[in-house]
Amino acid sequence: MSREEDSLVVCEQCGMAHRWRSLGRGVVARCVRCEAVLGRSHRLQLPTVLALTVTAAVAFGIGISTDVLSLRLRGASHSATLPQAIIATWGEGQEIIAAVAAITALVAPALFIALRLYILVPLAAGRVPHGFAICVRALHHASRWNMVEVFTIGVLLSLVRLSGLADAAPGPGLFALGAVTLLFAAIESAGTKHLWWQVR
Ligand SMILES: [Zn+2]
Repeated sequence: MSREEDSLVVCEQCGMAHRWRSLGRGVVARCVRCEAVLGRSHRLQLPTVLALTVTAAVAFGIGISTDVLSLRLRGASHSATLPQAIIATWGEGQEIIAAVAAITALVAPALFIALRLYILVPLAAGRVPHGFAICVRALHHASRWNMVEVFTIGVLLSLVRLSGLADAAPGPGLFALGAVTLLFAAIESAGTKHLWWQVR
């Protein structure tokens, strides 16, 4: 019996337990009692998720170290990276907004990438990392707070609103954060269930 087939999956909606079976491509497993989705087959294997995570790490590094926005107003030009924008927001007296932006667009995505790498690199090499269970649970929380897409859309909306007042243009950091958003969506589609099956 494979690791997957040896597992039980409990429906989050009604609590019914099911014995797990490997799913064919495109198959969605549903609860026999309430028809809630128990899991989907996905084509992303561990090396693919690792490759996507490394790419996300590089894109996120570019996203936070280069300008997300540049403004030209009455001959003077201003530009800011994501950390500079958060510090400036704090300096303007908007401490709560700055703190929320720092947690959701900086700390949580960085933690999400770091935890994924910490878990995936040893697993790809056939080892189980120290504190595996704690890290997978922390990854679950980091992905809930990870809202880099909200920040990206917020900057895009600001660009549209500012376009009538000043010469505003997106910086390379904004394109990199847009790429991070897509990469995170692809990584999250793999979920965390497949990680547990690697170590049982
Ligand atoms: Zn159910």
